[in-house]
Amino acid sequence: QAVERHRREPSQLLQILVETQDGIGYLPAEALTRIADLLELPRARVEGVAGFYSFLYTEPVGHYRILFSDNIIDRMLGSRGLMESLCRRLEVSPGQVSSGGEVSVDATSCTGMGDQGPAVLVNGVAVTRLDEARVERIASLVRAGTPLAEWPAEYFCVDDNIRRRGALLGDDFVPGAALQVAMARGRQGWLEEIRISGLRGRGGAGFTTAVKWMACRDAPGADKVVVCNADEGEPGTFKDRVLLASQAERVFEGMTLAAWATGARQGLLYLRGEYRYLLKHLRAVLALRRAAGLLGARILGEAGFDFDIDIHLGAGAYVCGEETALLESLEGKRGTPRIRPPFPVTHGYLGRPTVVNNVETLAKTTLIALQGGTAFAATGTPQSTGTKLLSISGDCAYPGVYEYPFGVTIEHVLEDCGAHDPQVVQVGGASGVTIAGHEFHRRIAFEDVPTAGAFMVFDGRRDPFEMARNFVHFFAHESCGFCTPCRVGTALLKGYMDKLASGKGAKMDLADIEWLDRLLKNASHCGLGSSAPNPVIDTLVKFRPAYERRLVSLDFKPAFDLDAALETARRMTGRDDPGAHLDWREEV
Ligand code: SF4
Repeated sequence: QAVERHRREPSQLLQILVETQDGIGYLPAEALTRIADLLELPRARVEGVAGFYSFLYTEPVGHYRILFSDNIIDRMLGSRGLMESLCRRLEVSPGQVSSGGEVSVDATSCTGMGDQGPAVLVNGVAVTRLDEARVERIASLVRAGTPLAEWPAEYFCVDDNIRRRGALLGDDFVPGAALQVAMARGRQGWLEEIRISGLRGRGGAGFTTAVKWMACRDAPGADKVVVCNADEGEPGTFKDRVLLASQAERVFEGMTLAAWATGARQGLLYLRGEYRYLLKHLRAVLALRRAAGLLGARILGEAGFDFDIDIHLGAGAYVCGEETALLESLEGKRGTPRIRPPFPVTHGYLGRPTVVNNVETLAKTTLIALQGGTAFAATGTPQSTGTKLLSISGDCAYPGVYEYPFGVTIEHVLEDCGAHDPQVVQVGGASGVTIAGHEFHRRIAFEDVPTAGAFMVFDGRRDPFEMARNFVHFFAHESCGFCTPCRVGTALLKGYMDKLASGKGAKMDLADIEWLDRLLKNASHCGLGSSAPNPVIDTLVKFRPAYERRLVSLDFKPAFDLDAALETARRMTGRDDPGAHLDWREEV
């Protein structure tokens, strides 16, 4: 059925797999074979995609699949203890399916609920504000086999937690108003406003939006595409979740404004799997816009302005936030980043000229249409115009989403969110910048401390080493495995951090970590690998004592006892030469 619904389109493979799994509970081998036959694809390709995404299962995972968000913030809020408690109550081990096949419990990367954690996904749906009472109740609901639809509604309540409103979050928005103004300016006039505004991408890279849109407009080919990147996977980021929940009209209107500028006729919004609870709401907004003539053929009566939007669901792969990996995923493939050039603006979705913009970037274009590019550029700094949404979580009294003009200092933000005794702020998520106390005067801006939105606060009780170790585990888990430096390098980095944590570290390990940093930065195929060592190097430089107090020696120290490990072999062979023993403890 899923195959037919998607017109036997191979590019819809990921959506077909997601929908098939929704029906069966997992993807048995026969289903993969049947899908491959119907789509006329090699079975290995279908299996390769099914095996790539962490929310697709080729083995049964139980009627209830419970995944604990494993971000450092969730851990600080007690997620590990709650997971153990739930496992105990359900008599299941983490990562295993219960003996009766009803339930499995495991951890997953950050689910984007850092402002209301600890959080879990139950069969893909977010449950927030977990505590011992909720865990106990969830255990009894699972044991009783209660369908999810009958669970207490408040468990699935996701608050927006908007704490500070600026131009974007503060204004009431009338659907179609921005589009009317931009259309009145003409396509060229509208692009000129975007250029004047100085708008730069809010997804992290900060590329100039006007340059991207013009390149797509000028690329050969009439079938251009606008893609909204709503794969907000950076640990600690959730502002796009809030925009999609509370400002979906603006986001879709921004996509339509991009279509007006570039001449695109097709729009795709790639929604991260963790936010699938928003799917119904987003589809309803799309239906309203079609009914109002803001999507479809002849938008607002303009001949030749035809544009519509589809939503694609991701399935748990952080690397798909990288724009070329996202395009691969949209085409129904494994989310492996592409080699660039060519760039998506000329060779994007299915080889067509494609603009890929972040949710917040697209929402911001509605402001530019309504205020004009000059007024937009009057806020912020000359290199970073406009406002920025921050997702604030961690050790502060008021976690949530805050909108600030670019250029705001970190200490100003800390004061607003009620952070007492802040020691470290991790800006930009796991791949971002670790800011120590003496740097709190620095500013949020592309030219100083850039961020896609994450702002995680750690007070004096926290250990910067453990923060970095959590992020390194995240990268090792999320590496797509395509290139050796990242696949092996992130695993090695994780091994070094675990070795240090176990108290067996030596000074030489720190030197090896720095060498790995250079290797990953220079040889990785995409930004995931090159930014993976950032939190380790930052904390190593700024909080070196947190590392040095874990060292047992200033020389090389193995992570295990080689002499003891050889004991079994000696017994089996009957050979035990006293001169061949190595006691590293004596070597110190
Ligand atoms: Fe994949 Fe890592 Fe290589 Fe990027 S750097 S392509 S995530 S293995």
